[in-house]
Amino acid sequence: MKIIEKDFRISSKHRNQMIDITSQVGLAISQSGVTNGDAIVYCPHTTAAITINENADPDVPHDILLALAELIPQHQPGFRHSEGNSDAHCKSSMFGCSEQILIKDGTLNLGTWQGIFFCEFDGPRHRKVLVQIRGE
Ligand code: ZN
Repeated sequence: MKIIEKDFRISSKHRNQMIDITSQVGLAISQSGVTNGDAIVYCPHTTAAITINENADPDVPHDILLALAELIPQHQPGFRHSEGNSDAHCKSSMFGCSEQILIKDGTLNLGTWQGIFFCEFDGPRHRKVLVQIRGE
């Protein structure tokens, strides 16, 4: 079994933003030469996350961010963290910093409507995404 590590950088443009990174992850997998196995897509940041959801209708990521903003407002009287971005830390932990995706016949074995998103919760920033590809 091969284990190959790749990374790429992205820049967010808004404080809260879901960026479709499916093609970048797919490119990393095709460059790895692994045709069957899995990939872990990992975000090494505390105010961002990785998630898989619908990338066909752009209203879906919009509505996810809207619902999150209502659930966790940026400013709450009880927050103590001096950076003022506690909402972003909460959202990061809710979504998690990684996703595992199956690789079949050299491509991402995602559902028809699924895409991989980098979730920015404290942008705009320059960010890094790690991809560990394992398999044959
Ligand atoms: Zn902070």
